[in-house]
Amino acid sequence: MTGRALITDVQNTWCPGCGNFSLQHTLKNILTEMENEGRSLDNVVLVSGIGCHAKMADYLNINSFYSLHGRTIPVATGIRLANPDLTVICCCGDGDCYAEGLDHLIFAAKRNIDITVLVHNNRVYGLTTGQYTPTSPLGFRGKSTPTGTAEFPLNPIELMLASGATYVARGYTKKMDQLKTLIRNGIAHRGFAFVDVLQICATFFPAADYYTPRVYDLADHDPASFDRACAKAREWDYNSDARIPLGLFYQATFPGFDERMATQGMAAELREKAIRDLLESRI
Ligand code: SF4
Repeated sequence: MTGRALITDVQNTWCPGCGNFSLQHTLKNILTEMENEGRSLDNVVLVSGIGCHAKMADYLNINSFYSLHGRTIPVATGIRLANPDLTVICCCGDGDCYAEGLDHLIFAAKRNIDITVLVHNNRVYGLTTGQYTPTSPLGFRGKSTPTGTAEFPLNPIELMLASGATYVARGYTKKMDQLKTLIRNGIAHRGFAFVDVLQICATFFPAADYYTPRVYDLADHDPASFDRACAKAREWDYNSDARIPLGLFYQATFPGFDERMATQGMAAELREKAIRDLLESRI
């Protein structure tokens, strides 16, 4: 399979200028690199939810599972636990993952499930034509909030740090080189990798003029420091006019859910054997 063959010939219905194109081509380039390095793409699975982002399952020619709204992460978790040889990439929307599926996101981070979650965070429900999501800014005027939202946005970076994610990053669809590095390293990370992607919705939240002058690279930041990661996460609250850090906030090495399960399983076996040996020696 070549890089060119990774894009399907399914009719693409994303709007012109949509940031999903950047994510599609970033993923295509990463998959091509992985294949060139000798990794079989038969062992890669993409899981998507419901929303504009979810069409990635139609537009990328790899194994995929088009799941229910908000249920990408439990599906991805099940796939990963059933077959640890698979590399599982989740494409979620912000409505999909920070609203309907928020509990799944938190528990996957807490358990350190070895999957990579990319949140196409366009900060609006695009497919249903412009309702506000948990990351829409205060006062956002959309179909369901004609006079503006009355609630403050969620800060998913802060939430993921608090939940125990071991790889926490933020990218931007207009910084594709950096985005590729963040996703590639997230896939290589052992454990739960989370990348919040500021994705331009050209039709309902065209925020490039807001993001582009504010973003900066976290190049000098030490991602091993949890406290510094928390401080960096709070620099921009998804609402203010502050500068917006992009890059890797935090990375840690910590046993994953499947490793712990395996270890506990082994310990239980040894315990049973010890009990059997003891009983036999008494006989
Ligand atoms: Fe992209 Fe927004 Fe159009 Fe959906 S509505 S395809 S997110 S530009």
